[in-house]
This record gives sequence, structure tokens and C-alpha cells, in this order.
Amino acid sequence: MGKRASPLDIYALLDKSNCKDCGYDTCMAFATDILERKITLDDCTHLNQDPKQAKKLAKLRELTSPPQKPVIIGVGDRKCIVGGEEVLMRHQLTFYNKAGIFIEVPDDMGADLENTIKYLNDVKIERMGDTLTIEGIALRCVSGDVETFKAAAKKITGISGLPIILCCLNPDILLTAAGEIKEKKPLLYAATKETWEKIGTFAAQNSLPVVITSPNMDELISLSATMQKLGVKEIVLDPGTFYGPGSISKTYDDIMRLRTAAIDNDDPNACWPVMGVPASYWTQVDTNGDVVMHQYQEVIMAAIMIAIDTSLIILHTGQKKDEIWGLLALMTLRQSIFADPRIYPTAEPGCFKIGEPGPDAPIFVTSNYRMTKIPVEQDLQGGNIDCWLLVVDSEGIGIESAVAGGQFNGGSIAEAVNEFKVFEKVNHRILIIPGMAARISGTLEDEANCYVLVGPRDSSGIPKFVEELWTPDKYMAEFAERGD
Ligand code: SF4
Repeated sequence: MGKRASPLDIYALLDKSNCKDCGYDTCMAFATDILERKITLDDCTHLNQDPKQAKKLAKLRELTSPPQKPVIIGVGDRKCIVGGEEVLMRHQLTFYNKAGIFIEVPDDMGADLENTIKYLNDVKIERMGDTLTIEGIALRCVSGDVETFKAAAKKITGISGLPIILCCLNPDILLTAAGEIKEKKPLLYAATKETWEKIGTFAAQNSLPVVITSPNMDELISLSATMQKLGVKEIVLDPGTFYGPGSISKTYDDIMRLRTAAIDNDDPNACWPVMGVPASYWTQVDTNGDVVMHQYQEVIMAAIMIAIDTSLIILHTGQKKDEIWGLLALMTLRQSIFADPRIYPTAEPGCFKIGEPGPDAPIFVTSNYRMTKIPVEQDLQGGNIDCWLLVVDSEGIGIESAVAGGQFNGGSIAEAVNEFKVFEKVNHRILIIPGMAARISGTLEDEANCYVLVGPRDSSGIPKFVEELWTPDKYMAEFAERGD
């Protein structure tokens, strides 16, 4: 990979007038956020409205384009960007575009198609403050019939804004359907050594992204070069998904070879997103045509692909409501892999209202580690507990470690109590601290002049704890006795 541009490299090519037209106070601030992809070069009015800046703009585009090019599938709010990465390993910087999960849907579902698409359109998992969704639909031509495939493509784009991959190896059927929905910017799957010219010409004329597939890496790279010469501007590479003993390593190696060629070696023909098709596991059939595989094998292959930053995967599992387990596992894994390692997962300190707390409402104390604060908040909300949640600045460290390291202690909690005027919100002076912080209860009582109740070690136990033990009058009587 070439050396990553610095904010100064970008700043040197900007107008430097600090005119603020872009919403930033300085051109340097703009340059910093350009590199973080929070904005685009189009946001600088000087660059785009002054023809004399054309050369600088071209240079800036070159400096800011990643070695693996991004490809956009779909239009509107739910359009999906795949690829566009700068590093092989997340810890080297960060991954910018998470692996797109597309769910395979056959074109011969008949009346079930509409309900399936509506379900997939709305499926979401709330986790740690994020809403996790799938990225699109992969419509597979099972019927072999152009009218059925075309009608299914139109139906899907008519009822959902999800991006669509049109999957058909017959170029006539594929391109007829693509012509019907081309304004939705579908991804065409797939051009092969037999069909590249027809599909490539159509993709170039209609500015559509296209998948090239071949199990032979040299052939795949050669097809990429040919398609680019045809004028195709957005390509996704599919080296094939192989299963069975010894074959999983080929799948893994091919994906990594393509990513390495793009990111480390600046190969102009490998510089595209890479995809995998775990759904191909379902093609394992016995002599009677019955599928012979375990569903979890597909999900494991998908997990391997997500773990190595495969740009896009097509899954069969997940199409039905009772297959949410597969999406839950993969989306949770993906959320971790694609979290920015440069940003410590902290939450804002403060005293947060949960429900409608009255004067006797309990006050729970927790740390500002995001993975602690959010589950505690969710458990309180889920238990319908009207209360206050005091989030203390523990430097983003979880309770157990912060107690050991001294970031979550009597003094820091007392400071937060004063800063957020916690006891002015209720008519008692009782704090409930996590069970893992029991050992600081004595110092906290002294520092904050309060009664400390030690809660459960795990916030899932809070509802039961409140039901059985929350008797503020009794604790305040004890507190008063101590003062006498
Ligand atoms: S619009 Fe351009 S010139 Fe003006 S502050 Fe922003 S980056 Fe600088």
C-alpha cells in the first residue's frame, strides 16, 4: 500500500482561505475529516466552483482514493458501499465499510415473495446502541424463466429500498431483468469467461456494478482487466466459495490473495471489493436431490469471511424468521470486527432518567464503558424500572477493571454525584452500586455522605433486586441512625 496521505498533504492542496462555506472553521479541520471519510471533496465550494482548481481536485481525488476501490450497490438511504478499504488488518487503521450481508431469495417463491421481502426489509437487531440490519437481497434465478425473474426483480424493488443483486448466469435473462430495474443500481451477478463481453458492455453503458467470477485467479484478474477496458467502472470479484475438507483453505486463501494484491501491492486489476457466497453450501445434494449439509456450516463459512473483511457475502440462512439465530451470530461478530479500534467505546457521563422516576426512585451507578452502560440501561428499561442511572467517568473502563485500577472509586463517584446534582432529583441519599464494586462502598459512603446499597454483579439481576430489596425508607432510617 502506498503511504497514506496526511492532513497536511490534503491541506496543501486546499484553498486555505478558511472561508467556512463547508461548515468547518478551518481548511485543516476539513482536511482531517476528509481522511476520515466523514465528508467528501465535493463539500469544498472552492474546489468545485472554480475551474482553475481542476488539477488540484484531481490530485486530491488521487490522494484520497483507497487502494481497494469502493463499489456502491443500490440507491437512496439504504444504498450499500462495499470495499474501499485501506488496510489488510483492522488494527493497522480501521475498516471503513462493513461486510455487506445479502440474503438469497429465489425468483419462484410466488405469493411468498412479498412477505419475505417485507420481513427482510424490516429485520433489525438492536445491540450496544447500534441497529444491525442486512444490506440487501440477492435474487437468484431458479425458474430459468426470464419473465419470472424480471417480475420478481420488479416486485422486490417496488416494495423495498434494499439494494439488490441479480444472480443469473444466463446473460439474456440477467440483462433483461437488469434493464427493468437499472435505475435502482443493481449489482449484476455474474460475468464469466463466456459472458464477459455481453454483460460488461451492458454494465458500462448503464453504469452498473458487475461481479466477475472464476475459480481460477489468473483468469479472474485477466477478466477484471478486460472489463475495465470495456469501460466498466465498478467491479466486485468472486473467486468462488468452496466447501469440504481442504477446500475451505482455498476459499480463505483466494480472498486473502485478492485483498493483499489490492491493498499491499496496488494491483490495478485486483483493486476491487471481494465477495463470497456461503449460500453455495446448499448446493450439496445427494442422489435424490436432497440437501445434505448442516446449516451451521454455512454460517461458519460466513463468519470466516467476515473475519477476513470479505466485502460482501450472500447467505441462504436468514431468509426466514426462525433463522434469526444465524444473523444474530454474524451481525454480532461483524459489529465487533468493524468497530473502529482507534475509538475507545465510551459513553457520555451523566445522570440519565429511565422511565418516570419519582422522589423514591432508586439511583443506579455504573461506569462509562459503553459495553457496560448500554446493557445496564437496557436491563433497566426492559424491567420497566423507573429510576436514575448515574454514569461515572471511569475513562471508558469496565467496572471490574476500573475498580482495580482506581478509575471507579468513592471519590470519582462522589464528584459525579455533585456534578450532576443527583440527590436533588430524589428525596433520599441512597446509591446502588454494581456488585463488582462492593469493596468501594465504605469510601463512597464517606465521600458522598450517602447510604450505599450493593446491587447484583450482573445488571440482568436488577429487576429481581428492586422487587425484593428496594425499601428506601428502611435504608434512610439506618442512614439517620448512623448520623446520630
Ligand atoms: S469550503 Fe474549502 S476553502 Fe472554505 S473552509 Fe472549507 S475547505 Fe477551506
